[in-house]
Amino acid sequence: MPGEPQDDCLFCKIVAGQIPATIVRETDTTVAFRDINPQAPTHILVIPKVHYENAAALAAEAPQAAADVLRETQVIADEEKLEAYRTVFNTGAGVGQTVWHAHAHILGGRGMQWPPG
Ligand code: 5GP
Ligand code: ZN
Repeated sequence: MPGEPQDDCLFCKIVAGQIPATIVRETDTTVAFRDINPQAPTHILVIPKVHYENAAALAAEAPQAAADVLRETQVIADEEKLEAYRTVFNTGAGVGQTVWHAHAHILGGRGMQWPPG
């Protein structure tokens, strides 16, 4: 069922507490935790508790949860005292998506190039 936890999903297991993570914030609908392989001094993932394979599917099927994820990125950036930060949703293996549970990356604490590589 769309939105239901998936047995083979790493992030569903983090939501369920079956895999440990360094959780920085949790709400009724979202969990935020530090990326295991940080690409910047601050690198936090914000995920919806419901399972959708990418941000577009989340926005289409569970728009409130999508809005909650986006709102959390700002709350966390404020808590982490990030003056500037980048929010990234990778969609598709061709741009580096490796976990098929929608997630926002919050990256900050260093300068960054534009356009991204
Ligand atoms: P993607 O490449 O799909 O956009 O992002 C997946 C992210 O999940 C990667 O940045 C990767 O480092 C992170 N990641 C993968 N496995 C784990 C894990 O077990 N724990 C945590 N905290 N992050 C993970
Ligand atoms: Zn999942």
